[in-house]
Amino acid sequence: MKIGLMGGTFDPPHIGHLLIAEQAKEQLQLDAVWFLPAKLPPHKQSTVTSAAKRLELVRAAVRDNQDFSVSEIEFERETKSYTFDTIRELKRRYPEHAFFFLIGADSLVSLGTWHRSEELYKEIEFGAVARPGSRYLIPEGARVTAVDMPLLEVSSTDIRQRVARGRSIRYLVPEPVRQLIEEWNLYAT
Ligand code: ATP
Ligand code: MG
Repeated sequence: MKIGLMGGTFDPPHIGHLLIAEQAKEQLQLDAVWFLPAKLPPHKQSTVTSAAKRLELVRAAVRDNQDFSVSEIEFERETKSYTFDTIRELKRRYPEHAFFFLIGADSLVSLGTWHRSEELYKEIEFGAVARPGSRYLIPEGARVTAVDMPLLEVSSTDIRQRVARGRSIRYLVPEPVRQLIEEWNLYAT
């Protein structure tokens, strides 16, 4: 099977993440997309929300789509959630699958700074989407297929700020995610 891997911090998951997964599934002819919430995101100083809650938010986000699921693989390690380690482990466990790592342009630009990036390029192919405010630059040596999707100016940072200001996030996140954010009183100041 061809599997897309949608990595992220997901604090919270939003419609941009889901749209990447859906468009990549169609355009790269993937059989499924596995969401990989990072337990300890290497590129973030600290996350606002606990890893356990972010995991639940991602579960809620993908619940209604049979082709999307959540992998807890990055919760099995106590070390930083390096994509390189995750890919190695997934390939070891599922040698029968072909994996594609899905990313937005801002991540694509900084791919060269990722842990063991040169080796990562050899391990996996990428599916990349454009993102407002980011250049679309393919790092030397990386195998990248462009995935087309409407430019979406949505980010978890913006959603957290909206909640903090008491503004609506309905339709920016899946409804079950919005309900959990409300129930857990996340991002409020
Ligand atoms: P934050 O603002 O907290 O960084 P984010 O919206 O960037 O959150 P992440 O969890 O950091 O979400 O991103 C996971 C992946 O999704 C990254 O590869 C990122 O580039 C991609 N992504 C997120 N939002 C968009 C978007 N609106 N358009 C394209 N790619 C996106
Ligand atoms: Mg981000």
